[in-house]
Amino acid sequence: MSEKTKGQLLSEKLFYNSENAFKKLDAEEIAKADAYCEGYKKFLDSSKTEREAVISTEKMAREHGFVPYTFGMKVKAGDKLFYNNRGKSIFLFRIGSEPLTEGVRIAAAHIDSPRLDLKPRPLYEDSEQGFLKTHYYGGVKKYQWTAVPLALHGRVILASGDTVDIVIGEDENDPVLYINDLPPHLAQAQYQKTLSLAIEGESLNLLVGSRPYDDEEASEKIKLNILSILNEKYGITEADLISAELCAVPASKARDAGLDRSMIASYGHDDRVCAYPSVTAILDDASAGKHTVMVILADKEETGSDGNTGLKCSLLSDIIAELSNTFGVSENTVRANSKCLSADVNVAYDPNFPEVFEKRNTAFINHGVVLSKYTGARGKSGTSDASAEFLGYVRKLFDDNGVIWQIAELGKVDQGGGGTVAAYIAKRNIDVIDLGVPVISMHAPVEVIAKLDVYMTHKAVLALFAE
Ligand code: MN
Ligand code: MN
Repeated sequence: MSEKTKGQLLSEKLFYNSENAFKKLDAEEIAKADAYCEGYKKFLDSSKTEREAVISTEKMAREHGFVPYTFGMKVKAGDKLFYNNRGKSIFLFRIGSEPLTEGVRIAAAHIDSPRLDLKPRPLYEDSEQGFLKTHYYGGVKKYQWTAVPLALHGRVILASGDTVDIVIGEDENDPVLYINDLPPHLAQAQYQKTLSLAIEGESLNLLVGSRPYDDEEASEKIKLNILSILNEKYGITEADLISAELCAVPASKARDAGLDRSMIASYGHDDRVCAYPSVTAILDDASAGKHTVMVILADKEETGSDGNTGLKCSLLSDIIAELSNTFGVSENTVRANSKCLSADVNVAYDPNFPEVFEKRNTAFINHGVVLSKYTGARGKSGTSDASAEFLGYVRKLFDDNGVIWQIAELGKVDQGGGGTVAAYIAKRNIDVIDLGVPVISMHAPVEVIAKLDVYMTHKAVLALFAE
């Protein structure tokens, strides 16, 4: 091979390009990433709702010696704690050896995903078919949710005050739910509509039955039969569905995707694909050290982070204030010196839709964890916009720790845009930057990610915690 020319050497030194991680990693590390993702797939299947994700996470945390934290509790360096917020969001933290005033190292991901929530009075029958009415949660392309098998997950509080947890449609012997769509034979008028109107919100009704209750004199026999089945199995009456949080999610399991198995197809990568790597990072004893470290798994991100389980809630500040009180230090100082990775997914470049991307500033699958300096829309509106200094810190941290990373925006300027929890973290005077896994078909019932990117996200969070 001929020697490199001066110009070639200079461009190696001066140019920046993100690179495919397959080029950079040896076979051993690729195998490690594949093995890591086996655990991720199990997490996906057991954690389709925020409640289930909290249960899975608390279980993992307890297995690693984490214990429940209560406000006012005395803590010391080395303690491993978790705070379960109403069963829908969870905070894991380890107390470090250095003063808390050096700040907390935080990774914040969310565990709610787009889905179809049941309305408070969902059940009805029409023309001898039984249905459940839904109100979609988060940004869904409604037409994608028709004609696919769906499962029902959630919790019902009975009139007695008893709690019933429901999962129907995940076991292969379970029945599934379904949303009807028109056959192409009768879709001439539907074809003329725009995608956003072809299936409307009020037609996202879950088909749940067609067998009448066996009593000639009874009315609404299909509905009655469904309620009688629910009542027999769970003790539920129609009124109990009012004090309930039930939702329909795709009934499929996480599967390897691609003939080369390099990817995973699943419901709910957004944002379990950042939640799981954050949790495994804090469970890793490499996270035990100088800094106090924290993982936040938030709810309600997909509807704007409102509510007391979302990240606009004061709970993050409250926990930092409680810990600060314990050590007799200023919570304001603790927050001012804290650093956070807002771990949420980004959009992966899709060669089937090149028109919405600006290729130089777009994330590619297999190019590692994506950093985003800012998000927002229409002139960066609504973004936190990380400082050059903080980006410089994170970039060096990743380079020093063998984290393969890339930088990207979410699509072309003025093509759309999106937000994350970063703005609500920044609001508390904490340095924060967005980082996460590039996703193909984000918010679709089944999304696709690349395994190497999941593993690199785990390495990224671990680098922050172990620093
Ligand atoms: Mn997200
Ligand atoms: Mn999302």
